Amino acid sequence: MKLGAHTSVAGGLHKAIERSKTFGGTALQIFSKNNNQWVGKPLTDELVEQWFQAVSESPINLADIAIHDSYLINLCSPNQETFNKSYDAFIDEHRRAERLGIKLLNFHPGAAIDRDRGSAMAIIAEQINRVHEETDDCSTISVLETTAGQGSTIGYRFEELADIIEQVDEKKRIAVCIDTCHIFAAGYDIRTESGYRETIEEFDGVIGLNYLALFHLNDSKRELGSRVDRHEHLGKGMIGETPFRMLMADERFAEIPMVIETPKSADLHEDVENLDLLRSFIPATVQAE
Ligand SMILES: [Zn+2]
Ligand SMILES: [Zn+2]
Repeated sequence: MKLGAHTSVAGGLHKAIERSKTFGGTALQIFSKNNNQWVGKPLTDELVEQWFQAVSESPINLADIAIHDSYLINLCSPNQETFNKSYDAFIDEHRRAERLGIKLLNFHPGAAIDRDRGSAMAIIAEQINRVHEETDDCSTISVLETTAGQGSTIGYRFEELADIIEQVDEKKRIAVCIDTCHIFAAGYDIRTESGYRETIEEFDGVIGLNYLALFHLNDSKRELGSRVDRHEHLGKGMIGETPFRMLMADERFAEIPMVIETPKSADLHEDVENLDLLRSFIPATVQAE
């Protein structure tokens, strides 16, 4: 399995690769810039060179690295200024990813605020189409993240993501990330073996597993259907160990990068513990391959 963590880029993007060695990461997610700022510092040639050098010396393949976009971006914001800034920032995220050789650009679909959900989804799709056109020299993929459905956020039902995908012209550049904490908070009960199977089946029926490109593996501090997004260490929250055990044995997902986004301290010992737990769930037959 391709397992890793969302990892800090403090000190330079290549530092995330170095930090990943602490917990034996074979997948990775990063912010390519400060996630609370609209405009990032430009990627200098030196930074980019250091990045590729670090990747080449690590066990992580570029295909298993994702960028999480800035939290400020809301592609369907009813506020004209935020709407415009979001569009520009999303293009910038694509360009930065392309420069770093990263294909997967994970993003939250958006928050409808005072728009009705249907038109919010149409606007998101339209913005994605515009961005893809403007970045047609890039091979990056816009990866829609499943959300917990907090507030007016779009994407807490698989149907909403399917609706957006349907309206995106370039199907090769659109994909989905399953966040286990988010789907559970949104109401998908993955706590049992049958619940896990039914949820994946439902995802396949509504969206299609061919669109699944990334997993965020997080337990949830909050209960099923709470629509509140609070990550917990794996097996220690309201979800428990079962779906993580199932995922580690699910060969359909052996090539899909999976990253944890759980709380951590500076020495990253929590990441070590969470990833050791996941690795202990991998059946010997899968490990041998
Ligand atoms: Zn996530
Ligand atoms: Zn979350």
